Amino acid sequence: MSMFDQYRFSAALLALTLALAVGTASAQTASKLKIVTTTTDLASLAQAVGGDRVEVNAIARGYQDPHFVEAKPSFLLMLRRADLLIFVGLQLEIGWLPPLITQSGNPRIQTGAGGYLDASQFAQILEVPTEVVTRAMGDVHPFGNPHYWMDPGNGRRVAQGIAQKLSAMRPTDAAYFQQRLQAFNDKLTQEERNWNAMMQPYRGRKVVTYHRSWPNFLNHFGLVSAGLIEPRPGIPPSPSHTIELINMMKRDNVKIILVEPYFDLKMPNRIARETGAQVVVLPPSVGGEKEITDYFTLFNYDLALLVKAFQATQ
Ligand SMILES: [Zn+2]
Repeated sequence: MSMFDQYRFSAALLALTLALAVGTASAQTASKLKIVTTTTDLASLAQAVGGDRVEVNAIARGYQDPHFVEAKPSFLLMLRRADLLIFVGLQLEIGWLPPLITQSGNPRIQTGAGGYLDASQFAQILEVPTEVVTRAMGDVHPFGNPHYWMDPGNGRRVAQGIAQKLSAMRPTDAAYFQQRLQAFNDKLTQEERNWNAMMQPYRGRKVVTYHRSWPNFLNHFGLVSAGLIEPRPGIPPSPSHTIELINMMKRDNVKIILVEPYFDLKMPNRIARETGAQVVVLPPSVGGEKEITDYFTLFNYDLALLVKAFQATQ
């Protein structure tokens, strides 16, 4: 073989190798399960379990109120391509998701289809109403509190449910998903030890919250909900309720008001001024702040904020 031929040969070999590499890469891309989640928290859990075998997109941004999401054409495009739709359920998304599912025209994600996954079935649900729910009670969720992902135990349960689903859809990758789930669980166990230690000194502390977004979170970390700024979801508080709340906070020495980032701070600030309490804007979702990039940093961020507030109001 001449030098020239040798050069030609290695050039051809290189081209062949590249073609193979590109071919393999595109075959892998083509075989990725396309997952759409309604929230960033579910996206983080799905990504943790699915790894490089899935492509995950969330509809709502982490700083948005997940009860009210404005439909966009891009959501329809996402849903049209989806193999799997994972949603929070318990009517959290009832105001906006059902029409999107219908309009997507995607048979894989319609109610009851194989790609329609209600994550609430895996979680421990609090505040399941025992009385008949009426409109006068506000946007009460008749099947229980849908903000369940703010308990690491539920994060673990939902991740496991997602792993089961992915394994059923892609049996050839079942071992991979199982291994990813195990790694997620191990990390969560380790993080939970830190989180519990952080919150240990503050167990039993009372807080007031704006919306009923935190029962799972408060329960898990041994905190107590002393009251709500918005007693009936979606309905502005009455002046008499606010006065009662202020009196209770003074009497019981409640010094922390938790507010989700998408609520107006005027009322919380007013109550804080009258009671000497501190308003803590606490993101309940991944992406609620730039540094909250996944399910773990969500708790890291929120708990660090809370500890600071507890220390400042001791
Ligand atoms: Zn809610």
